[in-house]
Amino acid sequence: AIPLVMSRSTSIAATNGLIIRDNQSMENSRKIDYIAMDKTGTLTEGKFNVNGLQSTDESIDDNKLLAIIAGIESGSSHPIANSVVQYAQDKKVTPVALENIKALKGYGMSGTLAGHDYYLINMKFLNENKIAVDKQLVQTYLDKGNTISFLVNDGKVLGFVALGDTIKKNTVEFIKELKARNITPIMLTGDNKDAAAIMAKQMGIDEFRGELLPEDKHKVVEQLERDGHHVMMVGDGINDAPSLAAATIGVAIGAGTDVAIDSADVVLYNSDPGDIIKFLKLSHNTYRKTI
Ligand code: ADP
Ligand code: MG
Repeated sequence: AIPLVMSRSTSIAATNGLIIRDNQSMENSRKIDYIAMDKTGTLTEGKFNVNGLQSTDESIDDNKLLAIIAGIESGSSHPIANSVVQYAQDKKVTPVALENIKALKGYGMSGTLAGHDYYLINMKFLNENKIAVDKQLVQTYLDKGNTISFLVNDGKVLGFVALGDTIKKNTVEFIKELKARNITPIMLTGDNKDAAAIMAKQMGIDEFRGELLPEDKHKVVEQLERDGHHVMMVGDGINDAPSLAAATIGVAIGAGTDVAIDSADVVLYNSDPGDIIKFLKLSHNTYRKTI
């Protein structure tokens, strides 16, 4: 039987933006000394502004560039994709229809147009595949914390789109409160290292890792647990599901994917990371009463 004080806490949880899927997580919360967090959609809104769109090849103008990029993104539900498709619509640019659109996990997307393969991918992909890019040209965007996606065809960059995200309004206060509780925050993101560094600094987070593949996020959480830490992992995407499962407590953002929610012990249904502080307080009070 569920102790009376526990069932009462579960309903209090509901009024605090929390769905507690595993009651054990309330007891485990006392042990938490690290909190690992995804960036996009978890600490940030995941609603991007297009800050730059530029063709870097004479074979293509900015409108054609946007039409192909939006065409590829029509096959994705990633926050970047939604923002780019919306941007094209605002600019009255009709997306080009591509075939065989696929996600390249941690890198971006690909599609085929008139028998040619097009890639919409990040700097990590360019570096790993030794594709040349004018670093100078994109550095000003990187310095401002932008996420950049490059359109590549036949091993050549045709242009890029630079996107900026907004930090959620409660994120900075939330990080302060974690630190006051001696819980160390670490940001784990698939985004470029510059964006990771700049956003972490703005949020007051001292530890961060960028350019992580989903399995890398999982490995970081596993390593922290092996080192004797008790980790809470917070995320919103399919790519966060393995690390949510590996953590002592997995927390999913309510607006996130079903896969993330299914892997989580706690769901923040208002998608506000600040509600984690309410979870910690509630757990603390519950266990003080039962002991
Ligand atoms: P995270 O949620 O930590 O940002 P993801 O694995 O979702 O991690 O994405 C990692 C990176 O892969 C993004 O920063 C972006 O560069 C690239 N990416 C993923 N999906 C897309 C997409 N649909 N369009 C463009 N880039 C993408
Ligand atoms: Mg995410």
